[in-house]
Amino acid sequence: MSPVMDENELRERTRALLEVVHPERDDIVTFRRAQYEHGLAWVHFPEGYGGFGLSPKMNYVVRDEVLKHSKTYYADPFASVIAIGMGAPVLLTYGDEATKRELLPRIFSGEDIWCQMFSEPSAGSDVAGLSTRAVRDGDSWVVNGQKVWTTVAHLAKWGMLLARTDPDKPKHDGLSYFLLDMESPGVEVRPLYQITGEAEFNEVFFNDVRIPHARMLGQEGQGWRVAITTLMNERVAIGGGGSKQKGGGAISQLLKVWQDRDASTMSASQEALLRDRVARIYIEQELLRLTTKRAAAAQKAGNPGPEGSVVKLFQADSAKRLWETAIDVLGSRGLSFEAGYELRQTVGGDSSPEALAKYQFLRSRANSIEGGTSEIMKNILGERVLGLPGEPRVDKDVAWKDVPRS
Ligand SMILES: Cc1cc2nc3c(=O)[nH]c(=O)nc-3n(C[C@H](O)[C@H](O)[C@H](O)COP(=O)(O)OP(=O)(O)OC[C@H]3O[C@@H](n4cnc5c(N)ncnc54)[C@H](O)[C@@H]3O)c2cc1C
Repeated sequence: MSPVMDENELRERTRALLEVVHPERDDIVTFRRAQYEHGLAWVHFPEGYGGFGLSPKMNYVVRDEVLKHSKTYYADPFASVIAIGMGAPVLLTYGDEATKRELLPRIFSGEDIWCQMFSEPSAGSDVAGLSTRAVRDGDSWVVNGQKVWTTVAHLAKWGMLLARTDPDKPKHDGLSYFLLDMESPGVEVRPLYQITGEAEFNEVFFNDVRIPHARMLGQEGQGWRVAITTLMNERVAIGGGGSKQKGGGAISQLLKVWQDRDASTMSASQEALLRDRVARIYIEQELLRLTTKRAAAAQKAGNPGPEGSVVKLFQADSAKRLWETAIDVLGSRGLSFEAGYELRQTVGGDSSPEALAKYQFLRSRANSIEGGTSEIMKNILGERVLGLPGEPRVDKDVAWKDVPRS
């Protein structure tokens, strides 16, 4: 049974933590480690795993109390969204005791960055069609194959790896899910460049990589189920990247661009039309913020549901509209780059609203692809929420090895 703890007690515990360690006195890893040990990391997790089994809403109480006493804590560019947003819940659900004890504290402290290795050159939307193979050899599995678009693989200590362990089964049934130590021999990570100029993601090659059997999450052949849990959490983690406060985040950046506009370059009618677009996007972003709150609550309660797909779909479209509007407000300046610019540059040291808008305009192109494309989100909503007939799935019951491939 969950312990009964009210808000006051949680605040007191947070203050007690701040007496022992403090984000402005100690380094961030020391602080986050202690936060975990005091059960104040993610209070909705069970006792012993960085929480107290409380309602997810109570996380805000801890956050609030820490913020009251520290200006720097949440300003820290905290490391691993993939590990915290996806790795931790998946590990909690499917990990064995030893792995949870070993890895959960390191996720929360930021010591270990994680990456997600699902997509392959011929298996993105159709993840279950993937061909990276894992073959059992004694107490370990030997992996060969390739992944693509693997965000932060070059920094990651652990990878959530989905691989085919039984090609004789239909595609969803022959998969298993592993935690791969990215420092294992045979793992090769090669950077891929994006339109923004960053190399945020990579190709990853596996050449006879050995993974101990104990690092399998869930049962052999049940990798798809574990992958779905990961993806449900991913949609909330990605979609939930919006502002926590009304008028904050991306919309505040658009408003800055709008306030700094050069009115001499616009006709009165152009300005009125743009003003209308800015106002509409403000409303959209507020709708998104409120829906995100609902989706996050469902996820933290352990029931990530289709709200995640709604948020993901809407966020991707709205972000594109938002940054396109910023570029239109900037006028010709929005697409002008200094000589020598190769569309291969990061925003760098320039954090002006104008530089940020130019960068985000390019980065937001990926929003409707990463974490599941908008078309796939629409399929999920059509089938699971609206109850519309599913897509024809001709390969669903065919052994994976017999499915025709080009
Ligand atoms: C910035 C970024 C970061 C990423 N990070 C990661 C990561 O860390 N780990 C990881 O594993 N992957 C990652 N990905 C990969 C991403 O999940 C895939 O790109 C995505 O799932 C689409 O797969 P695909 O590229 O193979 O396109 P395809 O599946 O080939 O799709 C091509 C087009 O066809 C449409 N389409 C496909 N099937 C259907 C269908 N059944 N119905 C309707 N339309 C359909 C798609 O929506 C899309 O428009 C990342 C991608 C990006 C852009």
